[in-house]
Amino acid sequence: MSTQTPLVIGLTGGIGSGKTVVSDLFAKIGVTIIDTDLISREIVKPQQPAWQQIVEHFSETILLPDKTLNRRLLRDKIFADSNERAWLESLLHPMIRCEMQRQIQQALSPYVIAVIPLLTETAPNPLINRVLVVDAPEELQVARTMARDQADREAINAIIAHQTPRPIRLTYADDVIENNGDLAQLQSAVENLHQKYLQISTNDR
Ligand code: ATP
Repeated sequence: MSTQTPLVIGLTGGIGSGKTVVSDLFAKIGVTIIDTDLISREIVKPQQPAWQQIVEHFSETILLPDKTLNRRLLRDKIFADSNERAWLESLLHPMIRCEMQRQIQQALSPYVIAVIPLLTETAPNPLINRVLVVDAPEELQVARTMARDQADREAINAIIAHQTPRPIRLTYADDVIENNGDLAQLQSAVENLHQKYLQISTNDR
């Protein structure tokens, strides 16, 4: 095992673009996956440090009867007030990075994939060495998400309208997976990138 810190690939993409399928394919070939959505849900669980500070800041009215965060109310508050949004991000982002750092240090693979759905919506993350964007035509994003979540088209379009537009997201990319084909094509795109990342992690740093 190398003693060098692994290369960190930030994986992002719009709703239903295929981030989960892609990260599952990397996981299957033995690459460590860091799930920042999961981390952000863990650190706001009752009695965790972020939970305590959020309750102090917004009062106990931000909790549901079972003491878990009322995520919908919190979302509404930060949507309505950019100062509250900035406050919450300045609380959560360092904690998420700290946990990412811990997982990066424990990783056994020469590179890791950090899944960061909001990578292009938030401040740059200094832990990320390269950005991989999973891109799919909007119509496919909608169709796949409708099939997966039994959600209606309008709700998905509204989410897409709130996310970074595809052409702008692509400007962040060092690598792109065009997820407009079948799963076999996706698998071969992942295998090609795997070879590239192995090479970069051993030679180019
Ligand atoms: P979200 O942002 O909503 O979490 P995501 O980017 O993680 O979405 P996935 O859940 O990976 O997207 O993919 C959306 C749906 O489309 C899933 O049901 C997945 O199985 C399916 N899917 C993704 N890519 C393909 C593909 N190339 N062929 C067939 N189905 C696919």
